[in-house]
Amino acid sequence: MDRREAVLRELNLYPQWKLRGGSGAATGQPAAPSLCEPVAPVQAVASAPEAAVEPEITTGSEQRREQIISELGWPALKTMVRDCTACQLRAGCTQTVFGVGDEQADWLFVGEGPGADEDAQGEPFVGQAGKLLDNMLLAIQLKRGKKVYIANIVKCRPPNDRTPERDEIATCLPYLQRKVELIKPKLIVALGKTAANALLGKDAALGSLRGKLHDFNGIPLLITYHPAYLLHSPMEKAKVWQDLCFATEVMRKL
Ligand code: SF4
Repeated sequence: MDRREAVLRELNLYPQWKLRGGSGAATGQPAAPSLCEPVAPVQAVASAPEAAVEPEITTGSEQRREQIISELGWPALKTMVRDCTACQLRAGCTQTVFGVGDEQADWLFVGEGPGADEDAQGEPFVGQAGKLLDNMLLAIQLKRGKKVYIANIVKCRPPNDRTPERDEIATCLPYLQRKVELIKPKLIVALGKTAANALLGKDAALGSLRGKLHDFNGIPLLITYHPAYLLHSPMEKAKVWQDLCFATEVMRKL
């Protein structure tokens, strides 16, 4: 079994994906899976009603803080995040988790927030969810740190891994916005409902957001499931594969 086959098996995708333009009959071997050749084409899913979220009201000092963040370079941004106590999440975490990867990445993957492993190690997407994300990247011939940057919506672990509150997201989001300005990725992939809605300013079901091209501050944005969700719902991995194929098609055209 080669590495790609191993990855596709890990994602529950082997052997249901067919070789592009061939059946394998010439070799007498079963068709090997080809990247991004789904049995069913990627389709935009029907939209459910999407609730717009009222923007958080910002005070003068918050606007000043956002202005300061918007002018920071990498070193100052990292220092400010490291020392940040702007929301209540900082009191319960071990350390802030800034993000990791290529600072000139084409791909930016954005998750929700650090979990226990990330909180301990100071790096996003480590542990089982991180291993699955690495395999998702490998399946589309990407690698953590190489043209790929990985970040979260909030930089501090929420207590008991609860979903971050709206005000916590609003307080932390300027860091990610600045990061996007500095990286200038070609494509952003939001992992999970919380990340998607935070970037879109919506409160929509994830299923209504998949399969569509969105926009975050002028950069194409796609939505898929969070790897942690896939650990509990492995049958959804095929949908993630569809989303990743959609993402590679979009990237190819950029
Ligand atoms: Fe600061 Fe973000 Fe941590 Fe809140 S979650 S303390 S805004 S770094």
